[in-house]
Amino acid sequence: MTHKTTDQSSTEAKKFVHDVQLYINGEFLHAKGNGTFQNKSPFTNEVLNEVAEGRKEDIKEAVEAAKHAFENTWSKLKLAERMTYINKIADVIDEEVEEIAILEAIDTGLPISQTRKMVSRAATNFRFYAKMVEAKLYGEAYQQDDEFMNYTIYKPLGVVGLITPWNAPFMLETWKVAPALATGNTVVLKPAELSPLTANKLAEVIHKAGVPKGVFNVVHGFGETAGAALVEHPDVKAISFTGETVTGSTIIRNAADTLKKTSMELGGKSPLIVFEDADLERALDAAVWGIFSFNGERCTANSRVFLHKSIKDSFVEALKERVFNIKMGDPMDPSTQLGPLIETEHYNKVNHYIQLAKEEGCDVIQGKIPEELKAGNFVPATLLLNATNDMSVCQEEIFGPVMAVIEFQSEEEVIAAANDVKYGLAGYVWTNDIKRGHRVAQAVEAGMIWINSQNTRDLRIPFGGTKASGIGREGGHYAMFEFYTEPKVIHVALGDHHIPQFGKKK
Ligand code: NAD
Repeated sequence: MTHKTTDQSSTEAKKFVHDVQLYINGEFLHAKGNGTFQNKSPFTNEVLNEVAEGRKEDIKEAVEAAKHAFENTWSKLKLAERMTYINKIADVIDEEVEEIAILEAIDTGLPISQTRKMVSRAATNFRFYAKMVEAKLYGEAYQQDDEFMNYTIYKPLGVVGLITPWNAPFMLETWKVAPALATGNTVVLKPAELSPLTANKLAEVIHKAGVPKGVFNVVHGFGETAGAALVEHPDVKAISFTGETVTGSTIIRNAADTLKKTSMELGGKSPLIVFEDADLERALDAAVWGIFSFNGERCTANSRVFLHKSIKDSFVEALKERVFNIKMGDPMDPSTQLGPLIETEHYNKVNHYIQLAKEEGCDVIQGKIPEELKAGNFVPATLLLNATNDMSVCQEEIFGPVMAVIEFQSEEEVIAAANDVKYGLAGYVWTNDIKRGHRVAQAVEAGMIWINSQNTRDLRIPFGGTKASGIGREGGHYAMFEFYTEPKVIHVALGDHHIPQFGKKK
């Protein structure tokens, strides 16, 4: 489907922005305490809008609504009726996809050319899970012998809490909401406080799709208050979280008292390895795209690039040329390749790491920020040359447009260095030696490895990381069977088998 695009500047596009309320039990509401917080533009740092600040009492109300809807409405629907709603949500997203992409660009600073692509995946997420659940969500029968059989059914959990980050917010939210609702759960979403606009739009979309009240609820607010209250609520059966590793640990700890199931999609420090026999032009495209797209605020970004000694100098020259030519600009300008970072605190964090890289001995190469962009949180595309894997800039997630370049000489050495990091989300291997490609892919510790490609996606496969990058997987039947439902076994006697007769008089 092609959509009409409406190119305009960030100033013009502000007409799409309005104040944001909570969405509870089918209604848009102020927070109970009437608190609000300000949402700022990454491009100008001006206030874009006010956001209702949900707290514990709002979470309580949202969970009650979701519980009531689970017990009385959503679980009573026929499968086909539920899927009609899920497909309708996808249709409404399609109708509004351009406005959603605009809101996402204004709110996050991600370039509109990139939000348009990412947001259009959201409708696919709903359609995919509608089909997946209809086709695949069934249990198994175990015929034991002539006397017994057992069978399993997969039951939804009930109310699930979804906690999401600000990078690619709409896509990541729908990536959780779609399987959660399709499998029959009801939802309370706590979106990131730095990107409330498209989470609110998702509430509007779901409302417009006519989904029964209470099935989907959004409580905006901060992690330590609204997020923590959701994690601790006894009627919330599971928390699906995407965000920083340290937040993930806190959530697991806080979820322990109520014995919640948790799914963790966390940070990364992913290696991209270029061997001397690789298609170097394609490897260059992939390395540049993989760290400088989405403003470098991407969990699977290849923030560590390992170059074989024999090709390092020429590859670095080509990298420098690309870095100086990446176009920074208004996120709403379709020609912009690199937009401003989400907020000043994050901008300061990224610049702190660039300073640290200099102190650790890297040569820092970066373009210049055009004068007219100085009000925004722009960090130019940055190369940290002559990096070594033990530097803190190679060990810690910077989450910005910063690529560390590390030289290697042998396959064993590069595998050891790639693995010498606490994270294990993604990895990329560039070589034309098929045996080496598979060998290295199998040896690098990560949930996902791409050989000679960059972040292609197949919704059926498991998405997620190992080590400090996560626990559990999203995607395909992994989300459906392993997270949003649980098996229940029913044992059936086919005859009158012997049962010991304790206490019976002989
Ligand atoms: P964050 O951890 O700061 O916040 C994520 C969410 O958690 C927000 O909604 C926040 O309000 C909430 N939160 C914070 N403290 C909480 C608490 N104590 N209890 C409950 N909720 C709490 O992460 P971020 O800065 O928004 O996102 C960036 C991070 O997300 C990066 O580390 C990135 O790698 C990671 N990420 C991972 C994936 C993946 O699939 N593995 C995808 C995207 C982003």
